[in-house]
Amino acid sequence: MNKKELCELNTEELEAVITGLNEPRYRAGQIYTWLHKHGAKSFEDMKNIPVSLKEKLSESFRMTIAEPVEVLISKLDGTRKYVLALYDGNVIEAVLMRYKHGNSVCISSQVGCRMGCRFCASTLDGCVRNLTAAEMLSEIYRIESDIGERVSNIVIMGSGEPLDNYDEVVRFLRMISDKNGLNISARNITLSTCGIVPNIKRLAEEGLPVTLALSLHAPNQKKREEIMPIAKKYELSDVLEACRYYYNKTGRRLSFEYSVVKGVNDHKDEAEELSSLLSVFGKKERGGREGAFHINLIPVNPIKERDYQSPDRTTLYRFKDVLEKNGINVTIRREMGRDISSACGQLRRRHIENAGAGSD
Ligand code: SAH
Repeated sequence: MNKKELCELNTEELEAVITGLNEPRYRAGQIYTWLHKHGAKSFEDMKNIPVSLKEKLSESFRMTIAEPVEVLISKLDGTRKYVLALYDGNVIEAVLMRYKHGNSVCISSQVGCRMGCRFCASTLDGCVRNLTAAEMLSEIYRIESDIGERVSNIVIMGSGEPLDNYDEVVRFLRMISDKNGLNISARNITLSTCGIVPNIKRLAEEGLPVTLALSLHAPNQKKREEIMPIAKKYELSDVLEACRYYYNKTGRRLSFEYSVVKGVNDHKDEAEELSSLLSVFGKKERGGREGAFHINLIPVNPIKERDYQSPDRTTLYRFKDVLEKNGINVTIRREMGRDISSACGQLRRRHIENAGAGSD
């Protein structure tokens, strides 16, 4: 029989299973705490649960979530990049970044990705499969247990397109913010999307105030199509309209990501065009409100399979200056773990190549 992952059950589902086995309801609470607060890795770890109940559970459920198989640690800033193995032999990557305000983890939402963005390594072999909520949770749980510290912030910006795996990602969001689990507020979670319009709108209705980050990467439809194939499916004007809808529904300040590529989207005229494109969202007010959005400029991290290069500093800062002059909140993404650098999806690929295995 194909066993289900125990960690995948939310509180109500676990209660239904436990009462269905004629066990007292409070056992569900105890088991949930073991799994989602203490990161129990096996049935044996759950000390106060009777062996008979664990035996019954193990007939239908397994506990086999992600296991770290490689960890790279930055000597510069303590960033840790993890390769985690899943029960079926697939591997994914997750990154821990240490900030003054706490520990932030960047998680993957799929094994690979099928969105095809030109500069991204995660998409080179397409999408192998979606991750389950349990697997996404275990990325966080494994990292917490590895460092012996709490994680306070999550960014869904690793491999995969979260809104292409909608149901499991929303289940993950509910469970990670559950007060009986790690209780990480949705406000401390950022979900990054290439712009799947209907699912941005759906997410706005979930009552989960996560920060939405949109991968914009271009100041107009034509350039966006060149860089991101998904742009052919969803028009830029519709994507921005969906972001506006999200902002109006949730009140969460939007984040736009712009990977800057030398000679492709880094001209100062493109910064002007970008400024007017986003002017519908209003400007930041002097000395007052922060505005409805900010832009993160990410100098592209070159991958060997493509010839996209990072812009030089002068060009990058000129681009930033134009946006600032136009009253836009803009930051250049600080690169964490430069000495163990690898762009989204590269670490996983390297690990697979070194293991001598095929990548799918
Ligand atoms: N699919 C989602 C989330 C994963 S990618 C999305 O598209 O947003 C997370 C961010 O990293 C995206 O903005 C993506 O465009 C960017 N990114 C991926 N590879 C990159 C690279 N090599 N250099 C710079 N940014 C990259």
